[in-house]
Amino acid sequence: MGITGKIVRCCSAIESLGDVFIRLVGPLYVLLGVSLIVAVASLLLFVILPLTHRAGDPAGFAALAATSFVFFNVLFNYFMAVRVDPGSPTSKDVQLMCAEAGAGVRRWCHKCRCPKPELAHHCRVCRRCVLKMDHHCPWLHNCVGHRNYRYFFNFLAWLWLGCLLTVFSSASHVFGGDAFKLRVVKLGGGAMGAITPSAVRDPVDVIKIGEGALGVGLAHSAEVRLTADQHAATTFSCVLAASIFCALCLLWFWHVYLVLTAQTTVEYHRFREARKEAKRIGVPFVNPHDRGWRGNWQEVFDERGRYWFLAWAMPRIKPHRGTGVPIVT
Ligand SMILES: [Zn+2]
Ligand SMILES: [Zn+2]
Repeated sequence: MGITGKIVRCCSAIESLGDVFIRLVGPLYVLLGVSLIVAVASLLLFVILPLTHRAGDPAGFAALAATSFVFFNVLFNYFMAVRVDPGSPTSKDVQLMCAEAGAGVRRWCHKCRCPKPELAHHCRVCRRCVLKMDHHCPWLHNCVGHRNYRYFFNFLAWLWLGCLLTVFSSASHVFGGDAFKLRVVKLGGGAMGAITPSAVRDPVDVIKIGEGALGVGLAHSAEVRLTADQHAATTFSCVLAASIFCALCLLWFWHVYLVLTAQTTVEYHRFREARKEAKRIGVPFVNPHDRGWRGNWQEVFDERGRYWFLAWAMPRIKPHRGTGVPIVT
């Protein structure tokens, strides 16, 4: 065997070891992911929100309900993305589809010994072919494909919103005396006016000022003196949520682009070559799976009803009802 052959075999062995490693540590990643989500959600619900709102405050109840709904969706979609099988061409119904003429099956997987429909790819970590494979996600210990892509996408979307809420709610406490919040107060003399934070240190006094018209004033938010533990908890939540938010601004918006243009991550890289080739010979590149942004969105989320533009983000137990075998004419 020549030196090149030895290098190739060595690289292949390292790659296989990496796949085994990802498969083995997958459950630990899931445990870490759930722990972080539960920790941030608990801190937000039981530490940060009670610091921000007084007991019995209607705005506090609204914030609590909205935050609970957001984190329920985060956990629901994470659970479903981990548990739902992305779909494989080795299943009987897909094999039947593939056997039918015109199913667009022109490829064959030698490892699974089954037909490989369009957009299906073999995952080295899962050791099987996956329908409409997007990527193998170590954080889910699962492949993201045809039946669980909706949950993966919605997990990113709700987590993005959850992180934004966490940063928004905790920032004023983390930065302490420099932060101010808007409060509705009663001013004396019936006049509308603004109260500067330097003039008024206690918002309770502001509310007692008089019985005149309603005014809007800025009151110092440092009325709540945080203990060291509370400050550590809010800082931890704020920093963690801000970091994840920044990462998701790239990852989630990237997947929004992929959904709107009917591409998976794998397909995007495959199309890149086709785009270059089309450009080289001077013809426009056409994605054969593109049905327009609305059709693409509806296809991925399997929501075609009247309220599809809201339904895609709502929790749904039933995975995608399609076969996952695109018809290519
Ligand atoms: Zn395969
Ligand atoms: Zn996989």
